[in-house]
Amino acid sequence: MKAEIISIGTELLLGEITDTNSAYLAGQLPLLGLDLHFISTVGDNQQRLIDTLRHAWQRSDIIITTGGLGPTQDDVTREAIAEFLGEKITIDQDLVKKFEELFSYYKIAMPPSNIKQAAIIPSAEIIQNPRGTAPGWWIERDNRIVITMPGPPREMQLMWTKEILPRLQQKIVGAVIISKTLKLFGLTEAEVDDKASLFLSATNPTLATYAKSDGIYLRITAKANTESEAQQLIIQREADIRAILSDYIWGVNSDTLEHNVGALLVAKGLSLATMESYTGGLLANTITNIPGSSRYFKGGLIAYTDDARAAFGFDWQLISQCGLISAKAAETMATMAREKLGASIGAGLTGVMGPAEVEGKPVGTIFVGIDDGQYSQSFTKNYPGNRLQVKQRAVTSALFELRKTLLQEGNDAPDS
Ligand code: ATP
Ligand code: MG
Repeated sequence: MKAEIISIGTELLLGEITDTNSAYLAGQLPLLGLDLHFISTVGDNQQRLIDTLRHAWQRSDIIITTGGLGPTQDDVTREAIAEFLGEKITIDQDLVKKFEELFSYYKIAMPPSNIKQAAIIPSAEIIQNPRGTAPGWWIERDNRIVITMPGPPREMQLMWTKEILPRLQQKIVGAVIISKTLKLFGLTEAEVDDKASLFLSATNPTLATYAKSDGIYLRITAKANTESEAQQLIIQREADIRAILSDYIWGVNSDTLEHNVGALLVAKGLSLATMESYTGGLLANTITNIPGSSRYFKGGLIAYTDDARAAFGFDWQLISQCGLISAKAAETMATMAREKLGASIGAGLTGVMGPAEVEGKPVGTIFVGIDDGQYSQSFTKNYPGNRLQVKQRAVTSALFELRKTLLQEGNDAPDS
């Protein structure tokens, strides 16, 4: 079956926002075995949207739109679809009541323009939007399915996973499709491909690799008549992959390294402090993206300049011997962070972010030091890339090594 995505919004055409909705949906359609043939972008213009719908209708079985469902004048998706299909818009009074209740809960008067979001046409079914007031439409007519979803990615993605994906699975696949993503770090995509090559050519479950900023993702997708059969296929394939790649797998699905490191610290009753140089605080920033991180994160020191290093009491003799871009510097920073902030574990991070080499070391050289109070150790890596990529990978690398250290035995908090 052929699918087509239409992203709607003048800001997309002006280059003010990037069309991440289409990219997200494009990544989802293979789960359904749908062939995506076209992605079109059209501005907030009713006539041009109708023209775009006409093309899509001629060449695709499933048309998915995002955007233009808001209450304002420039949001014209509903009007364009109604006019294109020759159907009359009416107002769904139940939805109006729901909106009124919602607005009165927040103690604000409902703007009259919001009534527009309760519009419906005879062939459309309303799709709930748990994160906003713009409901979607599911339309079936003339052997085609038209799906409209709101533009804001948070709203669109939840509507997709909770409402649209299950309907499409039932409707067009007649089977249950489940996927699970394994997240890896420390190997290139080619290396992961190579190690998992036996499973990459399998058809059920299928296996796909993706390179992301926090490593390589392996997505296992299984298709079966029932959910438990599909789950079973995933469990088996996950075990196969873990047997080969377990040293590199740090999480699954929506896990983040900062979340997993935080959870391990909480579980073990340990605390963490960091000192970083040229990542400028990105490590501490990433750790504190987790709500409640103050339970285990004592703080982060940024030794960015000689002035800062002097203030923290760096051992200049040591630095002049080893250099700032060195394993010894990373370990020393880990120890300083641990001692200065009274944490159970200290992490030090230094390296060359670019664009120029430092101390004769190439851009992308990273040293991570970890001091858990018993012994300190360091790890070195090389990640070529631009400055922001190297910074990101340096932080991922530090979190990855922290996770490994925390998983090692003997790192439990002392008995209290
Ligand atoms: P709203 O009720 O917020 O107006 P809407 O369905 O009318 O929702 P738009 O007005 O088209 O959606 O877009 C609202 C916002 O959603 C945009 O300003 C943009 O931030 C985001 N957005 C819209 N379309 C996309 C897209 N294709 N990719 C990424 N973000 C998008
Ligand atoms: Mg809008």
